[in-house]
Amino acid sequence: MSSPLMGDLLSHAGFCLRSRTRADCAHCSGTSTGTVAYNAELAHCFRCGWAANARGLARSLGLLREKSLSPEEYERLRRERQALRQHAEVLLAVEKAAFLEAQERVLQVEAMRRNAGSRLGALRGGAPERYACEEENVWQALVEVHNQMPRAAAAYNIIAFAAHRDRLAFALDPQARDRPISAALEGGHVIDERGYRFEVQL
Ligand SMILES: [Zn+2]
Repeated sequence: MSSPLMGDLLSHAGFCLRSRTRADCAHCSGTSTGTVAYNAELAHCFRCGWAANARGLARSLGLLREKSLSPEEYERLRRERQALRQHAEVLLAVEKAAFLEAQERVLQVEAMRRNAGSRLGALRGGAPERYACEEENVWQALVEVHNQMPRAAAAYNIIAFAAHRDRLAFALDPQARDRPISAALEGGHVIDERGYRFEVQL
């Protein structure tokens, strides 16, 4: 069944109408005519495969206005969108803070390892202790590094690379971080939403 509306839309879009069910394609290059078949709802070019429904075509031509909203509906939608945006911003800020905290922690432990390492090297090379029992303290610091680095690295990997839901849960509840950290250490990796594994580098 042909439709004046679809015909009008096709004309508007630059198709040359041949009949109430056929038109020349505006998208095909070449000379064959009447390759577009159309009815009230659909138009389809058998040559190039172009296809559209009436609603989509009207929208693409800028002829279809979405149902207009009352001022109250518009205001309600605006408030909903604003509230959603604010929630999203709060979550992003919380996640960012957790990321920076985890990164800072890794950097601290790294710095501790570097300092202790270079002092130990110096002392072993014959440098005098800068204070009594320095070598013992340096060893103690290295033990601390050894104890702290795995958890710091796991926390960083989770907040940096884990699936979004896991990152958020991790950021939102500092009390509940033990479980995901232990899981990352046991498994040796965290998994993002696409299923990719990120090795926890120690
Ligand atoms: Zn075509």
